[in-house]
This record gives sequence, C-alpha cells and structure tokens, in this order.
Amino acid sequence: MSNIKVKNQYEKRNPLDQYPKPPFPRQPQSAPGSVNKMNPLPDHGEESYQGFGRLKDRKALVTGGDSGIGRAAVIAFAREGADVAFNYLPSEEENAQEVVKLIEAEGRKAIPLPGDISDESFCKKLVEDAVQGLGGLDILVNNAGRQTSQQSIEEITTEQFDNTFKVNVYALFWICKAAIPHLEPGASIINTTSIQAFDPSENLLDYAPTKSSIVAFTKALAQQVAEKGIRVNAVAPGPFWTPLQPSGGQPQEKVEQFGSSTPLGRPGQPAEIAPMYVLLASQEGSYITGEVMGVTGGMMPA
Ligand code: NAD
Ligand code: MG
Repeated sequence: MSNIKVKNQYEKRNPLDQYPKPPFPRQPQSAPGSVNKMNPLPDHGEESYQGFGRLKDRKALVTGGDSGIGRAAVIAFAREGADVAFNYLPSEEENAQEVVKLIEAEGRKAIPLPGDISDESFCKKLVEDAVQGLGGLDILVNNAGRQTSQQSIEEITTEQFDNTFKVNVYALFWICKAAIPHLEPGASIINTTSIQAFDPSENLLDYAPTKSSIVAFTKALAQQVAEKGIRVNAVAPGPFWTPLQPSGGQPQEKVEQFGSSTPLGRPGQPAEIAPMYVLLASQEGSYITGEVMGVTGGMMPA
C-alpha cells in the first residue's frame, strides 16, 4: 500500500483524502510493536511538522515516546525548541534510536530513558534521570499505555487486568507524584486518555476503565495543583494508526477496517494529534486546565 507523505500541515486540503483509508492489510506483530512493521507506514510529522518556537528551551519528559502518538509529540516538541527526555520499553530500542536522531536533527538535547513503568521504583528513577539530564522539567506527557483486546471477560486474566492498570494508571500516579515537586509555575502535565473513556468497546474491558480513570485523575489533579500555576489536561484520541493496534490492541479484522466508523472514514495519523500536545504544553494554553481534548475524526460523544 502506498504511503501518503504530507509535506506540510499548513496547506489547505480535504481531510478525507489527506491520509490512507481502510481497508488495510492484516499485519499482526507482537506487543509492543514497531512503527517500521506497519503498512502503510505512519506519519509522525517527520517531514511535515514545522516549529514556530512555541516551546523554546522548555524541558519535556514523554512516556511512550518511541512510537505512535508519543513519537509525534516528541518530534513536535523538539521542532518547537524543547529538549526532550523520553521513556520506552527496552525492546523498543530501535524505534527509540530513530527518535533520538530526529530530536538531535533539531539541535535539541535527546535523553532516551528505557524501562518498565509498571514498576514504582523505575518511575521515580525515570523522573530523577529526566530532571537531571534536562536540568529541570516543564512539560510531562504521560502517554505510554498497553491495550490487549479480549472478546470475553473470561479471557482476561488477573495478570492482564493488573498490568493494564499498572501501566496506564498507577504509572501515571507514580510519575506525577515524583515530577510535581520539580515543576514550576507555567509547567504543564498532559495525560493521554482515549475515546474509550466515554464510549468503551466490548473487547477492551480492562483498557477502557483505565482511560476513564485517567480522565478523573486529570480533573482532580488539575484542581489540586492550579494554585501552583501548573496546568493538567488530557488528550482523548479516537483511532490512530500506531503499533498499539496491530500488536494485540485490536483483532486483525478490526485492523483491516481501522478508522472506518469515524465520520472522516479513516484513522488519524500521529502527526494529526501532535499540535494538540503542543497547544496544551505551550503558554498559548494558559487558560486551559482540567480539560479533555478530543481528537477523534468526529467520534467524540458530546
Ligand atoms: P504506541 O504503541 O506507539 O505507544 C504506546 C507506548 O507505550 C509504547 O511505545 C511503549 O513504549 C509504551 N509502553 C507500553 N507498556 C509499557 C511499559 N510497561 N513500560 C513503559 N512503556 C510502556 O501506541 P499509541 O497508540 O501511540 O499509544 C499512545 C497512547 O495513546 C496510549 O496511552 C494509548 O492508550 C493511547 N491511545 C491510542 C489510540 C490509538 O488508536 N492508537 C487511541 C486512544 C488512545
Ligand atoms: Mg512503541
């Protein structure tokens, strides 16, 4: 299948035709998956994202920054002038090294920090290493997540349920707790939730409630740290073309039709959600806190 590479994100065009539409080929890969095994290859903004200095000299930590939505946010942050530390699983080193090159190509500092965030002590170390490597912290993006499709509650083991909550919810709590003492007024925390928080699918019985938890956590924390001048928001993606989906996040028959039920008729590409992370991270978002920003191709329920 041909890859559509958008040259820049600012030219007017029809969003219906901007990127590949289903059907897609079946393409199973094992979790956590690699962007390089996806067909068509995703667009993370490598050739299209243009920075305007909106995050000049900011210091950002992004989890799940090797691929997908996190990679697109990292590219955008670096192009907007930020230094970026990012976390990923050790098995994702190849994708992570590609991201290091993309950050360094912008003349910004790249700090790759591999490790498993289902472990509390690693989460504390992650924040410490990021703060030390960057010389502070202004932006925290809790974006890592796991998603494993199961058709029936009987197929969901306690181990799966527990690990999905550890990675998607506990880690976010541990990382925020470790990071907040380092944040100064003007800092921004951005959590990746999902349309699944509001419109859960039958095959995501453990995952969808983690995403609702992230919404409630975001709104509560936003109220708590407002007096410190720290903003906290969530981004709720609809279907995005990332390794999470073909690596067990959806059955292959859903991968074939991925994005077809949105009004725009196709999945989003990671490059199409990065601007939301930039807005929430930058001072342009100064009056936005405790919000959930949908980027769903028209699917977000009212
Ligand atoms: P992705 O696979 O590219 O990114 C997810 C990342 O999570 C992985 O790269 C991996 O580094 C990280 N991760 C998973 N388990 C981990 C662990 N134990 N320790 C450390 N890191 C771990 O997929 P993505 O779609 O870009 O996912 C990013 C976020 O977007 C996730 O929170 C996901 O739930 C959310 N989301 C995705 C979609 C979608 O359709 N792709 C829709 C809604 C929400
Ligand atoms: Mg990955």
